Amino acid sequence: MSKAVLVMIDGLRPDAIAAAGCKTLPELQRRGASTLTARSVMPSVTLPCHMSIFHSVPPTRHGVVTNDWMPMARPIPGLIEQAKYEGLHTAFFYNWEQLRNLSLPGSLNYSYFRKTVRLFPHGDDTTVDVALDYIPAELPDFAFVYLGTTDEMGHVTGWMADGYLEQVAYVDGQLGRLLAGLPEEYSVLVQADHGGHDRSHGTEMDEDMTIPWMIAGPGIRQGYTIQSPVSLLETAPTLARILGVPVHEDWEGRCVDEVFV
Ligand SMILES: [Zn+2]
Repeated sequence: MSKAVLVMIDGLRPDAIAAAGCKTLPELQRRGASTLTARSVMPSVTLPCHMSIFHSVPPTRHGVVTNDWMPMARPIPGLIEQAKYEGLHTAFFYNWEQLRNLSLPGSLNYSYFRKTVRLFPHGDDTTVDVALDYIPAELPDFAFVYLGTTDEMGHVTGWMADGYLEQVAYVDGQLGRLLAGLPEEYSVLVQADHGGHDRSHGTEMDEDMTIPWMIAGPGIRQGYTIQSPVSLLETAPTLARILGVPVHEDWEGRCVDEVFV
């Protein structure tokens, strides 16, 4: 059992990591377990994807199929609710407001939102600043740090265009700043929600559906390439194992057990 941080780099394509000359993400691969062929869900759109990440069910089950949130017809406790039942301290740091309903009211100990997602290149800096103020001081059991500028830049310049790759490189630097400031007891899971093509995403094309998924920390294998298929649904069960909270019976994903020593 340990503490964990989930870092989302919205719209990060795995092939952008090398193309942009990222330094932090390859270093994370060296010191952890990873796959560059994890899969998103359909529709490969940010809010449906995040609902699937936190509730371990596909959009057909949670019912959020656009970036307009709606309540689940048959509610399922997500990772944050499961953590709350166990008395854990949880915190969110994000800059895209639609994510406010990923957990039920009354579940989080701390939440930071500022609408900075379209400020290039610095729109994720403050999110990282606040996370770095809070996490080492308050030591939450779980923190979610959402970095949204990469997706926004993809919509502006097109995925894999120069502007997008420059933003990916910039955010990789911000990720490096965040990871350097985290206490050693933390496990870190870094992933995307979806990829993108041209100036959009949401389809079943490989460019939209293929995402990086990387995990490192105490008890995690190092320099290891994950062999089994990983989708967004695996995030909550894997984090639940690290945090020591029960997997809910309605969750459809599985813990990626092979990442553990
Ligand atoms: Zn987008």
